[in-house]
Amino acid sequence: MSSALPRPGLRDVAPYVSPQLDVAARLNTNECPSSLPRAYVDDLATAVRDLALHRYPDAQVQRLRDELARCTGHELGSEGTWVANGSNEILTQVLQAYGGPGRRAITFDPTYLLHARLCWLTQTDLVRRRLPEDFVLTDRQVDEAVGARPDIVFVCSPNNPTGNAQPVAVVEALAARLPEALVVVDEAYIEFGGESAVSRVAAQGNVVVVRTFSKAFALAGARIGYALTSPEIVGDLERVRLPYHLSTLTQTAGIVALRHRDEALALLDAIRTQRDRIVDELGSLGRVTVYPSDANFVLFVTDDDATSVWKALLDRGVLVRDMTRVVPNALRVTAGAEHEVDLFLKALREVL
Ligand code: PMP
Repeated sequence: MSSALPRPGLRDVAPYVSPQLDVAARLNTNECPSSLPRAYVDDLATAVRDLALHRYPDAQVQRLRDELARCTGHELGSEGTWVANGSNEILTQVLQAYGGPGRRAITFDPTYLLHARLCWLTQTDLVRRRLPEDFVLTDRQVDEAVGARPDIVFVCSPNNPTGNAQPVAVVEALAARLPEALVVVDEAYIEFGGESAVSRVAAQGNVVVVRTFSKAFALAGARIGYALTSPEIVGDLERVRLPYHLSTLTQTAGIVALRHRDEALALLDAIRTQRDRIVDELGSLGRVTVYPSDANFVLFVTDDDATSVWKALLDRGVLVRDMTRVVPNALRVTAGAEHEVDLFLKALREVL
């Protein structure tokens, strides 16, 4: 038994976990279903062999930032581009730099739970407001944000767990009406659908677009996320980063992935097809309400008790995400490979 006392309230907080179970269809964490293209794996293996791992990594992450700025066509170039260990670390750095004691953030729920959690971790005050019934942000939420006088506004587009993208006009209005706040647009799923807010970054200096290699690039295991923003904001993120925060292995994985970008993006159509198939088939099933999706997952609400449905699906080898804590009686399923979606739909028909 340790007698050391942690920070007050820490022991009331559970670690952030999603079950990682060895089942036939793992559809709970919105990963890409296919493994990496062979040519990428071979290229990466060759690159890793030549790395000088006895040296610290490039602290500026210059080459990967240059390549990302080029591939995304970011108007503000590599000075406005930043990389970290997953988009979760980018979000952490954003809160360390723009949040903290006496500072305030706003979220529109239901949304990605980590935004609120990182506010707690960084002792940032959090104002929680609701999304409208269809989950699409409107002028009304812009007014609510302005009234809350936040230092940080979170917009998630496409939104996790609801799946819908948010209008770029709302991001624009938030940035214009809150010039001293930072508008964080979490675009972890943007490659699957929706319009990116990146076009607002150069025009409005207080927008940061946050993206990841974990979903569309099939690199969840490599932990690479990036920000497209203004050089001033990148400068602030650099002030809070740890020394040598991004390992040479990670930087190399990102550089090689961008070289194979077209192969990765070619797989997205198949995922969108499975997503649309899930929406169509659940829609015609009865006993469930299904929401439209611009992402690689689908949210649905069951007439039956959702947690019991979740368990019954797991008994049939299908793992989905129990979202009942976030949206009443809702489950979220990732658009996986065709055979996984077959298993999911068959199991759900049996269960309902
Ligand atoms: N943002 C959203 C909306 C997400 O759903 C996720 C993944 N669950 C992330 C960020 C984190 O992704 P990463 O693997 O890049 O940390």
